[in-house]
Amino acid sequence: MRPFVLAIDGPAGAGKSTTARGVAGRLGFLHVDSGAMYRGVALLALRRGISLADESSLVKMVAGARFTPTPDGMLLDGVSIEDSIRTAEAGESASRVALHPKLRRTLVSIQRSFAQGPGLVMEGRDIGTVVFPDADLKIFISASAEARAERRYLELRAKGANPDRDSIVEAIRERDRRDTERETSPLVRAPDAILLDTTRIGPEEQVALAARWVELARGRPDRGTLVYRFGSGFAQAFARVFLDFHVEGLERIPRKGPLIVACNHISFWDPPLVGSSITRPVAFVAKAELFDNPLFGALIRSYNAIPIHRGPQARTGLRGAEEVLSAGGAVLIFPEGTRNKSGTLMPPRAGVGRLSAATRSPVLPACITGSNQIRRSMLRQVPIRITFGSPVMPPSSGQREEVRAFAQQIMDMIGVLREDQEKRHGRDRRR
Ligand code: C5P
Repeated sequence: MRPFVLAIDGPAGAGKSTTARGVAGRLGFLHVDSGAMYRGVALLALRRGISLADESSLVKMVAGARFTPTPDGMLLDGVSIEDSIRTAEAGESASRVALHPKLRRTLVSIQRSFAQGPGLVMEGRDIGTVVFPDADLKIFISASAEARAERRYLELRAKGANPDRDSIVEAIRERDRRDTERETSPLVRAPDAILLDTTRIGPEEQVALAARWVELARGRPDRGTLVYRFGSGFAQAFARVFLDFHVEGLERIPRKGPLIVACNHISFWDPPLVGSSITRPVAFVAKAELFDNPLFGALIRSYNAIPIHRGPQARTGLRGAEEVLSAGGAVLIFPEGTRNKSGTLMPPRAGVGRLSAATRSPVLPACITGSNQIRRSMLRQVPIRITFGSPVMPPSSGQREEVRAFAQQIMDMIGVLREDQEKRHGRDRRR
C-alpha cells in the first residue's frame, strides 16, 4: 500500500511541530521535520568552516551526509543534532542556506525518500507545494505574529531567560519576510491546504483536529455509485456543451477527508452544476419535502441527496450529512437555507456552522453566478461561473454564538469570491 502523506506547512512558531509530532505519534506514522534538515546543513557547514553562501560546497557536503528521522528527532550521520539546532541563531542560519535552489533540490529528493511504511507526516515550508504536491492531505498552520512571539517568549522565560518581547516579534516578522519573499520555494499555502489557525486553540485541539482529518482521509476513496457517476458526467457534459459554463478553483478542493462545500443558492440547477464540478463524489443536502414524491425522491436519493428537516426536527435534521462527513465524505450545502432567484446573497442560517462544529469538518466556500438565467446562458448571453474558495477549519465550539459567527464568516467568504469574479470578468451587463 502506498504510504499516506500528510503535508504540514506554515510560518515559524505556529505549532507545526506539536501538531506533526502528535499526529504521527497517534497514528504510528514517521514524523519528519524538514526544518531540522536545513538547520542541520547550517550546523555542519559552520562546523566545517564552509560559508553559508557557498552553494556548491554545501551541496557536496550534503551528498556525503546521512539524515535519519527518528521519533526523538533528526540524526545526522547517526548522531542526534536536536540539542545543537534549536537556537534562534541556528534558525537564522537555516533560513540563509534555505535560499539556495540546488541545495533545496538535493534536500527535497532526500525528503521524498522518507515516504515509507503506513504513513509520513512532514512539516516545513514547501511540503504541500514542492516536496509532496500530491500529498493525501495538506494542512497550513498559521497564527498571528504576536501569538507566535508570545509562545516563544514564554518558552524562553521557562528556560530562565529574560527576553525582550518586542525584539522577538520583530525577529519573527523578519524570518517570515525572508521565508515568503525568497525566489525558490517561498512559504505559500498550497491551494488545497486546510487553514488551521492556532491563534486561539491549544495544542491538544490542534492535534485532535489534524489526526481526525487524517484518520477519515485514510479510508478507501469513495468513487460514488454508478447512478452518481453517470448523473455527474451527464451534468458536466450538458453544462459544457449547452451552457456558457466556467469553473475556477478546482485545485483548492482537498482530495480526501471530510469536507463541507458551502455555496450560495440561486437556482435549482445549482446542486447538479456545482456538485458535478467537484472532483470527488459529494452528497447533497435537500429539503425533506423534495422526497415526498416517491419517484423523484428515489431519483435524487440515488444521486446522493440526503433529506434535511426543519423546524422542531432541526437538531437531528442534519444527521444524514453528519454520517457522510464522519465517514470522510464530502457534503454540498447551501448555507442560506433556501434558493434566492434574484441572485443576491442572503444571511446564512446556523446549519453550516453546526454541521462543521459537530463533525469537526473543514468548510470550502463556493460561489455560483448566472445559473438563475439558464436560458440566456444557453443563448451565450450570460455566463455561468462557479468559483471554489480555500478550505478553512471548523469553529472552535458548537456554541450558538460561535456557530452563527462562523456561518456569517463563510457567507462573507462567498461574498468575496463573488466580488473577485466580478473584478476578474467584469459584471455582466446583460444580467
Ligand atoms: O521550521 P524551522 O524553523 O526549523 O526551519 C528553519 C528554517 O529552515 C526556516 O526559517 C526556513 O527558512 C527553512 N526551511 C525551508 N523549507 C522547509 C523547512 C525549513 O526553507 N521545508
